[in-house]
Amino acid sequence: MKCRHCETELTLPFVDLGYAPPSNAYLSPDQLDQPETTYPLKVLVCDHCWLVQTQDFARADELFAQDYAYFSSTSKSWLLHAEKFCQMAIQRFQIGRDSFVVEIASNDGYLLRNFVAANISCLGVEPTASTSQAAAELGIPQCRAFFWSRFGKRPCCEWQVSRPDCRQ
Ligand SMILES: [Zn+2]
Repeated sequence: MKCRHCETELTLPFVDLGYAPPSNAYLSPDQLDQPETTYPLKVLVCDHCWLVQTQDFARADELFAQDYAYFSSTSKSWLLHAEKFCQMAIQRFQIGRDSFVVEIASNDGYLLRNFVAANISCLGVEPTASTSQAAAELGIPQCRAFFWSRFGKRPCCEWQVSRPDCRQ
């Protein structure tokens, strides 16, 4: 596996946490007495740039399935933090009605709801149907896809936003 930041081959273990099921992969009652899928949970560190990162074993669509159960908006303190962050960002970066805000992995719209309330155009890129639907119900335009599958593997800073027409 190569470093996500600098592409140096990763050889240095940081911590080995054994095996774990995918996060938010809750079992139904009829699955409780059946074998459960687990993956190694290993963390490596790059000996070139020192980025600490998990070693991938599961596919992204296994971790972020259509019935993904984590909704960011269930935390009132997180919602308050997101609201304050948006207020700060709007002032600091002079974000206005001529701006366009994109959030990658936007979950249920916990952050972008604040830009909608401020009449600032935005787009949430979110692969999980459950959370993306919740964001759409808040009036947040959605692109229901993994960012890299819809917009390529270029780093975000090279991606030129021009109000993509990808509502789904
Ligand atoms: Zn690196």
